[in-house]
Amino acid sequence: MIESELRNSTTAQVVAELQRRPAFVMVSHVKPDGDTLGAGLALGIALKRLGKPVYYFQQDPVPRNLRFLADAQFVSRDLPPDLPPDTLYVFCDMSDFTRAGEFLPKIERENMLDIDHHLGNSHFGAFNYVIPTECSTGTTVMHLLRELNVEIDRDIATCILTTIMTDTGGFMHSNTTPEVLELSAQLIRAGADKEEITEEIFANKRIAATRLLGRVIDAMVFAHDGRYCYSYVDDRMLAETGGDGEDTEDVVNVLRSQENVEVAALFKAYDGELRVSLRSNGRINVQAAAASLGGGGHFRASGLTFEGSLTDAFRAVEAALVAEGL
Ligand code: 5GP
Ligand code: MN
Repeated sequence: MIESELRNSTTAQVVAELQRRPAFVMVSHVKPDGDTLGAGLALGIALKRLGKPVYYFQQDPVPRNLRFLADAQFVSRDLPPDLPPDTLYVFCDMSDFTRAGEFLPKIERENMLDIDHHLGNSHFGAFNYVIPTECSTGTTVMHLLRELNVEIDRDIATCILTTIMTDTGGFMHSNTTPEVLELSAQLIRAGADKEEITEEIFANKRIAATRLLGRVIDAMVFAHDGRYCYSYVDDRMLAETGGDGEDTEDVVNVLRSQENVEVAALFKAYDGELRVSLRSNGRINVQAAAASLGGGGHFRASGLTFEGSLTDAFRAVEAALVAEGL
């Protein structure tokens, strides 16, 4: 048995805790994506159906392309001051609670439930429900919803399908197993609006985003016999194209999908921060490379925040990838 399984809570233990607690705060990570938010909303909506008060904490605003999700209008960085002391904070899709950002008030470990599918999750909660074989945190939540006996209605189904489509890259990544496709079919039968998800998340690109993509493509560098492709985004590119951080989301996948490229990196140097997104075709473990620089994620998709100049970041990330076999 692997160590993470040893320290996991069972489905029954987590469900008992969900039934016992008087109130909930669903917590998503900074720079939220469809998985962290969709998983929290799905479980939040289900708990509300069971008569529990539920709040949603997210430090950053809901990205434009996720505002169609039910309950997204209740997501906020402000929490009511009078929450019961045994409120359960449910962290979705993060390997450590620090990924929730510095605006989250201090929370005792005994009030933390950690639901995730990342390799290398730190099991920071009193309750940890971490299943790295799941394609998304949303599909991890599905095990709890089944055991809670809540009806998977249209809103919940759309949230869960959003987590799947986000984290499988629209059913393209290798985590798209037969089980994932079967579950997706069940969710669509339950009313999940696949068309809406496709339109909101994958189509419907802003013109500024496409112009920004053009700039990133112009700046692409190929190294290691074309197996490594990297590029960057900075404040100037954003100002000149009218794009913003949300418009950089999919860009690294374009770099990774160039012929012969095994690993891609996008360096995002704007708003006083330098964040790096890494993607792999499956040969090189970019989670290990990111973790060696203080970040994390999955074997094929990871990220980190870098302290230092863009040039230093280029060097450090390349060295970390070489250490993983680039
Ligand atoms: P993205 O490149 O889309 O920002 O992130 C890809 C994956 O890496 C996601 O699963 C995300 O959770 C993880 N990730 C991104 N940045 C960080 C980070 O700074 N720390 C950790 N632990 N994981 C990260
Ligand atoms: Mn995820």
